[in-house]
Amino acid sequence: MKLVLLGPPGAGKGTQAKRLQDKYGLVQLSTGDMLRAEVASGSDLGKEAKSVMESGGLVSDELVIGIISDRVDQDDCKGGFILDGFPRTVPQAEALDTMLDDKDMNLDNVVELKVNDDAMVERICGRFTCADCGKGYHDKFEKPAKEGVCDKCGGTEFSRRADDNEETVRSRLESYHKQTAPISNYYAAKGMLKGVDGMADIDDVTGQLTAILG
Ligand code: ADP
Ligand code: ADP
Ligand code: ZN
Repeated sequence: MKLVLLGPPGAGKGTQAKRLQDKYGLVQLSTGDMLRAEVASGSDLGKEAKSVMESGGLVSDELVIGIISDRVDQDDCKGGFILDGFPRTVPQAEALDTMLDDKDMNLDNVVELKVNDDAMVERICGRFTCADCGKGYHDKFEKPAKEGVCDKCGGTEFSRRADDNEETVRSRLESYHKQTAPISNYYAAKGMLKGVDGMADIDDVTGQLTAILG
């Protein structure tokens, strides 16, 4: 299965992608995670992306399209994947179609997590992640069962993203509405777009998604 998850920053794409990857044996392909890894490694690509990411803008289409095209060719993607955070512009969506065509692949589902912007600032500002296994948490909505200890791996180190602050979130939401929201129409015009209520609680959203995916 090849799936695209759409929705603004904080909509729950990463949270749901991690659950679906376990349930359906898919690989989560998050361009945000890949770009953060490039920034952390200090590669040329990371240097190019760093300041744009810090300001809440979007890095160039060519750069992310190149990253995804290489990633999809790797063996672990053969069993299917979930695109999380890509495509983010109409040119990226078009490039994805061409890329998949060239690789004799096609998308099975495009699902949008529908949410209110107003709630996204609180979601993003409360977000943190296990430094060992990458499991996502929230100060209020998804706390570890035992404070300070990761439910999944027992790790005790957690990290917060540099761009998860109120000011940057506002520009990220703006980028979303200007550059990313038109993608919904792109997929709707192809008859491919489905939507779920992303304001429901986390388990409920997973239930809505599995009802669509089967
Ligand atoms: P995205 O990948 O779309 O930016 P995340 O999956 O990282 O979003 O979710 C953002 C934050 O909100 C995380 O801290 C996560 O635990 C929390 N979260 C995700 N889905 C929900 C939900 N349905 N209700 C409440 N909080 C949520
Ligand atoms: P979120 O879902 O919380 O907005 P991501 O982790 O998906 O965050 O992305 C973090 C940042 O990485 C974005 O604000 C943007 O600068 C960059 N980025 C990620 N994916 C893309 C993409 N497909 N195109 C352009 N920029 C991207
Ligand atoms: Zn962990």
